[in-house]
Amino acid sequence: MAAEKETVKKEIETAVDQAREDLIQLSHSIHDNPELGFQEHKAVEFISSFLGKYGIQTESGYCGIPTALKAERKIGTGGPVIAFLAEYDALPGIGHGCGHNVIAACGAGAFLGLLKVMEQNQIAGEVKLIGTPAEEGGAGKAILLERGGFEGVDFALMMHPTGGGEKYNYINRGGRASSSLEVSFTGKAAHSSVPALGINALNAVISVFNQIDMLRPVFEVQDNVNGVILEGGVAANIIPELARAEFCVRAETKKRLLELVELIKGCIRRAESLTGAKASIKERPVYAERYPCLPVCMAFQGNMERLGIKMCLPEPGKLFGSSDIGNVSIKIPAIHDYLSITDDESIRAHSAQYAAAAVLPQADEICVKGAKGLAMTGLDLLLDERLRQDAKAYHQSVIPDYYKAGC
Ligand SMILES: [Zn+2]
Ligand SMILES: [Zn+2]
Repeated sequence: MAAEKETVKKEIETAVDQAREDLIQLSHSIHDNPELGFQEHKAVEFISSFLGKYGIQTESGYCGIPTALKAERKIGTGGPVIAFLAEYDALPGIGHGCGHNVIAACGAGAFLGLLKVMEQNQIAGEVKLIGTPAEEGGAGKAILLERGGFEGVDFALMMHPTGGGEKYNYINRGGRASSSLEVSFTGKAAHSSVPALGINALNAVISVFNQIDMLRPVFEVQDNVNGVILEGGVAANIIPELARAEFCVRAETKKRLLELVELIKGCIRRAESLTGAKASIKERPVYAERYPCLPVCMAFQGNMERLGIKMCLPEPGKLFGSSDIGNVSIKIPAIHDYLSITDDESIRAHSAQYAAAAVLPQADEICVKGAKGLAMTGLDLLLDERLRQDAKAYHQSVIPDYYKAGC
């Protein structure tokens, strides 16, 4: 079987190489037409026509989300269900500053490559491509999960581009839980010469900031609250009637995150009673912390190594950002490993420079190699029952019990 697997991996390389130009074109088309979360209609169209060229039909509007997408094929009977995930949303103002065009190309290429060798060799199992919109702020994967979009999936595989060279090619990188909430205070305008006639909404916002700062000594190491004032009045000679602020909250777990959100809501209630301004709160979706599935990450690392790309584990204790893959990783063994698209350490994600790098030859090469590595990892899961068992056992061992109870 081992020798056979090696042969099939070579076939994956050939299959992805044959689609090389189309994959790079897919990445560039998405990149050159940046669309914000839930508006990625062109991206969905580009992926659909890419797969259509290879005779694969896609379903857009998956789970009732217009810019979610699914393609799937089942070969033989039985076997696991492997899903490759594709993101394709851009950032306001800077386009593909998170390089999601590369994720889309890797996911679509992996789906195509694995499907081809499953067909050629009659390998039983099911392979899916799930296009997940709005990673940047809309938590598309969390919504898909709620609507059953990952039902029946045994393993979810994706990559994410990074920068700075090989030493940032992390496998098994975690991510904190995050969310944000926006508060609007409505007071009463008055002439600033007679402030007692008004209700100062800006004072309420300032009070929330001050109360949060007073609470910082009780924060845990991974707790992180950052706020901005979105609106704080119109002129200094008017008592502000309306003031708005937004707070981004991060914590080690979703459980802790929800506690922090409650703390902030307590600050808002006290600000209301101090000032008389009335608050209304908008809560954004919760991005859960991430539980990468180490055995599958290691299989991916091995496959990337054979393609000439070294990957490593991140330093322990480092603070990282968040993604909606966390929500998926709680339910299903999942990987979200990082491949650098530029050696320049000064180029950081979420910048215009990073967006420019996301279509340079190095990024194009990652579209191809990432697709191969993901497809090979899918193959490992299809052929290696021991890896599947290890992955499922590992997943069970790292997910806290309160999630298993349905929290
Ligand atoms: Zn991002
Ligand atoms: Zn991203």
